[in-house]
Amino acid sequence: MIKLIKASKQYDNGIWAVKDVSLEIEKGEFVYLVGPSGSGKSTLMKLLNRQEKVTNGQVIVDQFLAHDLPEKKVHLLRRQVGVVFQDFKLLNQYTVAENIAYALEVTGESKKKINKRVLEVLEIVGLKSKMHQLPSELSGGEQQRVSIARALANRPKILVADEPTGNLDPTSAVIILRALEKVNRSGVTILMGTHNDNIVNSHPHRILQMHQGKLVRDIQRGVRNEMD
Ligand code: ADP
Repeated sequence: MIKLIKASKQYDNGIWAVKDVSLEIEKGEFVYLVGPSGSGKSTLMKLLNRQEKVTNGQVIVDQFLAHDLPEKKVHLLRRQVGVVFQDFKLLNQYTVAENIAYALEVTGESKKKINKRVLEVLEIVGLKSKMHQLPSELSGGEQQRVSIARALANRPKILVADEPTGNLDPTSAVIILRALEKVNRSGVTILMGTHNDNIVNSHPHRILQMHQGKLVRDIQRGVRNEMD
């Protein structure tokens, strides 16, 4: 599903944000990506939807060679990789339903199909009753659930969440985790970047740990593998 082979990313300022990372994530896995700030988590996640391109190595996502994908095909990869951000990135002048519909309009689907899908994804995150409200009228946790619904709208195979609980109180963070676990049970592969030790400890899943751009640890089903 996701395979990195000696993937490295050097930014224009000379920093190697990701160094020689090799890893595999199977379809349907739920994986935490942890490590201190600046260790390369966001950059690694950006390599998956070609928001950034590797300097060396290979990044294979679903059937796409993300490291070698022509620009005109990048939208096909992005349809398979839903993204959730720490700060929600909702459009504040639009209602909850409109925020999600907006993500679908570029696909050229009919209005009827779009409306049906909007209701389906709001049902998954338990927010159908708030569909006509503005994001500013919702709590932070609810806004994040809307952004999860929006990320699911295109039926992605993979959901990448970069610090999705970073702006939330502990109770809301747990609700977001449960929503992501529910999405995962429906077959979506999840990679979640996080600093939230409480969440990682209370909701155990595989953990990939980064340090200074390298993958230093892979803790899988209770088995800890130190990396080279
Ligand atoms: P994390 O998500 O673990 O905090 P990042 O991937 O954001 O780590 O950053 C890894 C390193 O790359 C840091 O040293 C950061 O300053 C640098 N970096 C991140 N984005 C850019 C960029 N767009 N241009 C230059 N350097 C960057």
